[in-house]
Amino acid sequence: MYFLNSNVQTGWVEVIAGCMFAGKTEEFICRLVRFSYAKFEIQVFKPTLDFRCNENQVVSHSKKAVEATSVNNSDELLVKLKPTTNVVGIDEVQFFDNNIVKVADYLADKRMVVVVNGLDKDFRGEPFLNVEQLMTRADEVKKLHAICVKCGNLANMTQRLINGKPANYCDQIVLIGEKDKYEARCRHCHEVTY
Ligand SMILES: [Zn+2]
Repeated sequence: MYFLNSNVQTGWVEVIAGCMFAGKTEEFICRLVRFSYAKFEIQVFKPTLDFRCNENQVVSHSKKAVEATSVNNSDELLVKLKPTTNVVGIDEVQFFDNNIVKVADYLADKRMVVVVNGLDKDFRGEPFLNVEQLMTRADEVKKLHAICVKCGNLANMTQRLINGKPANYCDQIVLIGEKDKYEARCRHCHEVTY
């Protein structure tokens, strides 16, 4: 939808970030749906390597869902962007290439609302560089926390367990088919082996 009143000037970047089990996807979907009530045209993108759920949807833990287009990289996102889109949702942004930072700025400069969702840190507690940069450059940042499964504190870390034991710092970030498990932990209960 295009506003008839040309004085209306949207266009910004908002980032939702945090660890796993913090309700990020729930927040992401709520924000996008809110724009659809105001008749904005929404388009949601996710990286194709997100193998965990439906290719054509983003689904929250509580089963809320929005339609999504899977893309291989930030260039493909631009190619698949419809000319009528006003609001661009980008899910699992930590798995995009670093150019996604410039793409988000570009879209906002072109008067689009860009809602970005992603993990701010990997299981080791190291920042994903593109998310770190997006959080710095964004117009608005919402950092969400989970609850530590060990002690009940606010959790800011994603604990990775492989066969029940804390993962090693040198383990690859994305391992498909590995028997691993993730849980939310606070800084005191988070463990990484070296
Ligand atoms: Zn804890």
